[in-house]
Amino acid sequence: MDYDVIIVGAGPGGIFAAYELKKQSPKIKVAVFESGYALEDRKCPIDGVNVKSCIRCKTCSIMSGFGGAGAFSDGKYNITNDFGGTLYEYIGHREALDLMHYVDEINLAHGGAGTKLYSTANSDIKKKCMQNKMKLLDASVRHLGTDINYIVLENLYNKLKDKVDFFFQTPVSSVEVMADGYKVITENGECTAPRCILSVGRSGSKWMEQVCKDLQIPTNSSRVDLGVRVELPAAIFSHLTDDLYESKIVYRTEKFEDKVRTFCMNPKGSVVNENTNGIVTVNGHSYDNPEKQTDNTNFALLVSKHFSLPFKDSNGYGESIARLSNMLGGGVIVQRFGDLIRGRRSTAKRIEESFVRPTLQAEPGDLSLVLPKRIMDCIIEMIYALDKIAPGTANDDTLLYGVEVKFYNMEVQVNEHLESRYPGLYVIGDGSGVTHSLSHASASGVYVARDILSR
Ligand SMILES: Cc1cc2nc3c(=O)[nH]c(=O)nc-3n(C[C@H](O)[C@H](O)[C@H](O)COP(=O)(O)OP(=O)(O)OC[C@H]3O[C@@H](n4cnc5c(N)ncnc54)[C@H](O)[C@@H]3O)c2cc1C
Repeated sequence: MDYDVIIVGAGPGGIFAAYELKKQSPKIKVAVFESGYALEDRKCPIDGVNVKSCIRCKTCSIMSGFGGAGAFSDGKYNITNDFGGTLYEYIGHREALDLMHYVDEINLAHGGAGTKLYSTANSDIKKKCMQNKMKLLDASVRHLGTDINYIVLENLYNKLKDKVDFFFQTPVSSVEVMADGYKVITENGECTAPRCILSVGRSGSKWMEQVCKDLQIPTNSSRVDLGVRVELPAAIFSHLTDDLYESKIVYRTEKFEDKVRTFCMNPKGSVVNENTNGIVTVNGHSYDNPEKQTDNTNFALLVSKHFSLPFKDSNGYGESIARLSNMLGGGVIVQRFGDLIRGRRSTAKRIEESFVRPTLQAEPGDLSLVLPKRIMDCIIEMIYALDKIAPGTANDDTLLYGVEVKFYNMEVQVNEHLESRYPGLYVIGDGSGVTHSLSHASASGVYVARDILSR
């Protein structure tokens, strides 16, 4: 065997697995294979001048490389079992929370000290939400910010680089099961170990699907979240974001009784493109550094779509909707709320004349031609509901970017050790479908590292 443990993917799941393995057992031999670049080489070509929108690089530097999809993220570590994944279903509520706190300690020890921990406990907003038929979910949120998040990753890499063998720009093409372990195959050769951790995130979802097919590991895929990213003046949401930073608010619509929720709130942040498997969707982030902050707050409004049999390809459905926006707008479409309500497209002129300055250069258009009516109706109803707790949300100039899609990796069947049906083959992080967030993905990495060491 070449190594004791092979990790595929250097996102939070893979990094924290490597960190914990080396911390507890310095002699253990660990290799990490990553299809993207090392942290300092990760550069998205969009500069707003020469390259204004996504040019679909072969390896997306936003989604791939050391730090994974989280590297340029807002660095919001939500310490909660209420959202961000279902890790607690496998390892228990207490253990999941303990691990998230442990990850928080590591982040603080590697550059995150001094960042703020927000909490929804005893918040007035909670009562206001209840009075207006909404629910504020409970969480503690560590906001590192994109800049500090980067520093933490840099420090973790510096700590690990001489102890772990990192192979960047080395996608693993397949995994083979051997009698006594696993062989990963790359363009540059093969590598073996008795234990293998697959932590390939969202960008590796298609690859993970293929691996599960090849190795006959059972999977299930039935959910996708679709919606828009809302951008409005930061002042409108300041009473929520100043106290809570990120508020996860759920609303059940009167028309369809569908649930709509706020997701990934970025006070004084920027809206950004996201490229998943060649499809451009929208996301957002914000900086801790006041100099990099904007006058706007952005957040997603998402409607969950659960499919029942015989349909099994929920991500395929989400992709088709996202492709529609790419077809009509060449990428992400932006529309004023006022234009949407009046049944007309936004134009460059209308956006130019509006009071909210977009932070992402997107194509003005008509989102009602992209999103299914039911989802559009749910979003409109939610915007009016939010207007009651944050007056101004339903202003004509509020910007909606579409589409935001939250792809859920198909759920890979794993046991309480996060191990597939093959002993020693672990599937963790967002690639397993068990987690959907930085804190849960990182916690799953620590969990399997400890599991490997204890066995
Ligand atoms: C713009 C943006 C903002 C976000 N903001 C937040 C936030 O504030 N808070 C939050 O909780 N979550 C946020 N998220 C989500 C968060 O980043 C993910 O939940 C988290 O990164 C998942 O970690 P992971 O290790 O499971 O996967 P990933 O971070 O996706 O890492 C997987 C890695 O595996 C690599 N890989 C894939 N396939 C292969 C292969 N075949 N061979 C080798 N390597 C491979 C990929 O290149 C990638 O680097 C954000 C995501 C984005 C895109």
